[in-house]
Amino acid sequence: MKLSWKNLLLWSLPAIIIGFFVWQGFFVSTSNDVNNNIASSRMTYGRFLEYIEMGWVKKVDLYENGHTAIVEAIGPELGNRIQKIRVELPNSAPELIAKLKTSNIDLDAHPIKNTSAFWNLTGNLFFPILLIAGLAFLFRRSNNGAGGPGQAMSFGKSKALFQMEAKTGIVFDDVAGIDEAKEEFEEIVTFLKKPECFTAVGAKIPKGVLLVGSPGTGKTLLAKAIAGEANVPFFSISGSEFVEMFVGVGASRVRDLFKKAKENAPCIVFIDEIDAVGRQRGTGIGGGNDEREQTLNQLLTEMDGFEGNTGIIVIAATNRADILDAALLRPGRFDRQVSVEVPDFNGRLAILKVHAKNKKIDESISLEIIARRTPGFSGADLANLLNEAAILTARKRKDFITLNEIDAAIDRIIAGMEGTPLIDSKSKRLIAYHEVGHAIVGTLIKDHDNVQKVTLIPRGQARGLTWFTPSEDQSLISRSQIKARIMGALGGRATEEIVFGNAEVTTGASNDLQQVTSMARQMVTRFGMSNIGPLSLESEDVNPFLGRGMSASSEYSDEIAIKIDEQIQEIVRECHEKTLKIIQDNRVVIDRLVDLLIEKETIEGEEFRKIINEYTSVPIK
Ligand code: ADP
Ligand code: ZN
Repeated sequence: MKLSWKNLLLWSLPAIIIGFFVWQGFFVSTSNDVNNNIASSRMTYGRFLEYIEMGWVKKVDLYENGHTAIVEAIGPELGNRIQKIRVELPNSAPELIAKLKTSNIDLDAHPIKNTSAFWNLTGNLFFPILLIAGLAFLFRRSNNGAGGPGQAMSFGKSKALFQMEAKTGIVFDDVAGIDEAKEEFEEIVTFLKKPECFTAVGAKIPKGVLLVGSPGTGKTLLAKAIAGEANVPFFSISGSEFVEMFVGVGASRVRDLFKKAKENAPCIVFIDEIDAVGRQRGTGIGGGNDEREQTLNQLLTEMDGFEGNTGIIVIAATNRADILDAALLRPGRFDRQVSVEVPDFNGRLAILKVHAKNKKIDESISLEIIARRTPGFSGADLANLLNEAAILTARKRKDFITLNEIDAAIDRIIAGMEGTPLIDSKSKRLIAYHEVGHAIVGTLIKDHDNVQKVTLIPRGQARGLTWFTPSEDQSLISRSQIKARIMGALGGRATEEIVFGNAEVTTGASNDLQQVTSMARQMVTRFGMSNIGPLSLESEDVNPFLGRGMSASSEYSDEIAIKIDEQIQEIVRECHEKTLKIIQDNRVVIDRLVDLLIEKETIEGEEFRKIINEYTSVPIK
């Protein structure tokens, strides 16, 4: 018997509650029987006797063992119409019966005792019967399951379990910029189309392929393209949909999914976000999760259950393979891993070409410009970018997408919705100084990225923004580049200090300071860029079960901890000093730039550098 008592209790609870109410309902309705039947008006026993004397009473029905009488009477007081009146009778009124007899009044006693006994009995039995029936139902269901932990009730079935697309309509040409991953899959397409080629030589095709890559890099798209190219159905489900509140539901979904897949083989089964079910088991943080483990076990069982060459290929996607349970990665399961990277310049260009096909873009725009401006954008971001630009174009009732819309769309994707500009005020001046501070430090330090524009138009949470053109290669950053970034980030607060004085600095720099601290800390603890030496003292996000930041496990002594703090302070102090100096030395041009910025709201990078160059030379980057 696979049904645990915990489950049993869980499921029988609603039955008990429902049973109770239904039972109560029956009970009430039995005792109401007499009321339903009968008149709303009442009279006293005394008056009833008077009515008899007057000869107005035509008929008496006795209920409830002679305690209640329903009297049919007619008389001038009753408007000369026969009316039913209820009378409560005293406990012993034997003389009444005699009186009725002598007055020749029709008398009937209703054996209520009996009907009510029947209903009481039924009422009493109803609840246990319901419970027993419920339990029997549960056990039957649980034994039906193919040895699994029971499909308790039909909850597993009530929601859409998985999607099935008979034809995805997506081909490899729709997927761009991830050519290595595509190549890996061409073989699988060949297998799905001509399995004999492989089976003839005794080759086994992998049952499972794991796609690893950050969100929006095209993992789903690629899986669909495989199904589309091979012309086989595509089943998909997301790992987060497996994990339900009730133990056993996820497992039953896995079972259903594979049952359908087997009926439709050859086919592709796509499991998105597999980390939601497939995390390492038994790590114990936050308590065990029965449901997830059962679901994972079921998934492993199903994957072992079908032969390698049945034509079902399971493709799973995750953005981190390192947290997956080792059992998932064993041979015969997801033994192949294909990583899908965020596209580089050429990749972005290729993706833009795919998505520009059905859009009207002004001929003056080359997609290269867009690709160059969007380092770090995923395929989904790029698709979204062109779509946003198209929406903006339509809103302006223009015929073609121009660079304006593209720019606006890029800004929007990176920094959020545009707000309304501030009205002229002291705080607007302060924000202008803050932003010009970032921009001038960024411009005058050699290792900093170029300023693309400075603006006072709010966006998302930010009330002013300085945009930098990111360099293409963000993967290797030198020590002086990090320091330059720290100084750039400090530039806003430093300018506030110098221009408005220490007492006037604002909370506006809190985000900047967070970044500063985090960069300085990483220099010391991860990159070996302090005088503590080339030690890795903290690793990034080691434990996926804890929130970011909480995970930094201290693998060092308290003395080192003190040194780390000293070093972080030292780095920030040094950068802060240098930043203050840059601001002081360039106060004149800063004032001019602030006036211009308040007037124009936005200054482009070119113009910004040109003005600075009139006062001091901008380093060539
Ligand atoms: P993931 O599954 O990796 O999170 P998706 O496959 O769902 O990402 O991508 C979302 C959308 O982004 C796709 O439908 C497609 O329009 C676009 N996209 C993402 N990557 C690419 C790519 N390499 N080539 C073309 N379009 C892409
Ligand atoms: Zn700032």
